[in-house]
Amino acid sequence: MSETALRNTDIDAALEEAKEAYVASNPLSLARYVEATAVMPGGNTRTVLHYAPFPLAMARAAGCRLWDADGAEYVDFLGEYTAGIYGHSHPAIRAALNRALDGGINYGASNLTEARFARAVCERFGLERVRFTNSGTEANLLAISLARIATGRHKVLVFDGGYHGAVFGFAGGGSPINAPFPYVVAPYNDLDATRALIEQHADDLALVILEPMIGSGGCIPATADFLTMLRVETTRVGALLILDEVMTSRLSPGGLQAVRGIKPDLTTLGKYIGGGMSFGAFGGRADLIDRFDPRRADALPHAGTFNNNVLTMNAGLAGLTEIYTPKAALALNARGDRLRDRLNALCQAADAPVQFTGLGSMLAVHMMRGPIRSPADAAKGEPKLKELFFFDMLSHGIWLARRGMMTLCLPIGDAECDKLAAAVDEFLASRQSLLVR
Ligand code: PMP
Repeated sequence: MSETALRNTDIDAALEEAKEAYVASNPLSLARYVEATAVMPGGNTRTVLHYAPFPLAMARAAGCRLWDADGAEYVDFLGEYTAGIYGHSHPAIRAALNRALDGGINYGASNLTEARFARAVCERFGLERVRFTNSGTEANLLAISLARIATGRHKVLVFDGGYHGAVFGFAGGGSPINAPFPYVVAPYNDLDATRALIEQHADDLALVILEPMIGSGGCIPATADFLTMLRVETTRVGALLILDEVMTSRLSPGGLQAVRGIKPDLTTLGKYIGGGMSFGAFGGRADLIDRFDPRRADALPHAGTFNNNVLTMNAGLAGLTEIYTPKAALALNARGDRLRDRLNALCQAADAPVQFTGLGSMLAVHMMRGPIRSPADAAKGEPKLKELFFFDMLSHGIWLARRGMMTLCLPIGDAECDKLAAAVDEFLASRQSLLVR
C-alpha cells in the first residue's frame, strides 16, 4: 500500500473510533433523532444541522454554554451561525422580551418600536431606508427582485460558494431548489474572470450580489481590490451592487462594508440583529427602497405577517443599542482576531496542514496549507480530517459547526478561548501522524 493509502486507512480508523465513542456517549440524542425521523425527513427541519451518525440535540443553554440531551456541557463556539452574538438569554434581551410580552405581541398594526429599531439599524449601517423581513433569505429575495425591477434587467451575478439563503445558494454551482432568477456564477476574488463576465452580460445585468466575506462557504474574505472593482464595474454597466451582510455586519460597528469603504446600492441583514429572534432586513438607497412606499400609486407590495413583530423589534433594539454597541463590536472582533492568530500559531508550530481563516469574530478551520482565496481553494482540504476535528472538538466540550465554522458570542472570555486553544493543540498533537507533512 502507498503511504497515502495507508494514511487514509488510518484516518478512516480514527474516524470510526471517534464516532463509536460519540454514539456511546449520546444515547438520548440518538433516541431523540430516531423518534424525530418518524415525522421529519431524516429527523430534520434545517439541513445544516444534520450530520452522521446523528446530530446532538441540545437541551439547555446559558451565557456561552450549552448542555446536550445526555447532560454534557459545551462552550458555544458556534453562536448560532452568527445569530447568537448575545449569548443565551442575555438579561437585557430578556428584559426587552418581558416588557414586550407584558404589552401583548400580535397587534396586526404598526407598533411603537419598529421605527426606533429601523432608525438604529439605518444609523448603524449607513442605510437611508430599511424594510424588515423574517429571515435573511427573504431579505435577499426582496432585494434581488427590487434590483431587477429598478433596472428593468433580468440577470443576477453571483459567486461560486456564496450563500444568500435557503433558495439562493451556490455551493458547488447552484442548488436545484434555487429561486428561478437567471444567474451567472463567477469565481470569488477573481478580478479578471469576474470583470469579463460583467462585461459579457452587461446589457441585461440587473445586479451583482455577494458576501463581502463568504461565510458558510468557509470564512473567506473578499480582497479590497475585488470589492472596489465590483463597485466600479457595476456602476459603469448600470447594474446594482448588493452586499449580503447577513453574517458580516457584526464584523465592525458599521459592517464589513464600513471597514472596506464600499458603499453598495443595497445591503441585506439578518441573524443577530433581531436580538436572537427571527430577523431579516434589506435597505440602502432611498430612491430604491422607496419603491415600496405604499403612498405611491405604483408602489411595490411587500407583505409579511411577522415583518414588524413586537418580539423581534424589541429584542433587536435592545441588542443593538444596549449590548452590541460600536465599542462592543470593536472589542469582540479584536478578541476574534487574537484567537485566530493564536490558533494559527499553534498550527504553524506543529507544522500541520491546518489553518483558520476568517475575520474578527468569525473563523473556519481548513485542513490544508496554502492561500485560500475562494471556496474552490478551500475544497482542496481533507474532508475526513475536518470531520475528525469536529468529533474531537465535541469530545473536548467545544460546540462548533460540523463544517468547521466558529463564531464568538459576547459572553466568551479568556477562559473559553484558552479552552479552545488547548483542544486544538491536543488535536494537533494526538492526530499528528494523520496530518501530512
Ligand atoms: N445570507 C447569508 C450570507 C447567510 O449566511 C444566511 C444564513 N446562513 C442567509 C443569507 C439566510 O438567512 P436566513 O437563514 O435567516 O434565511
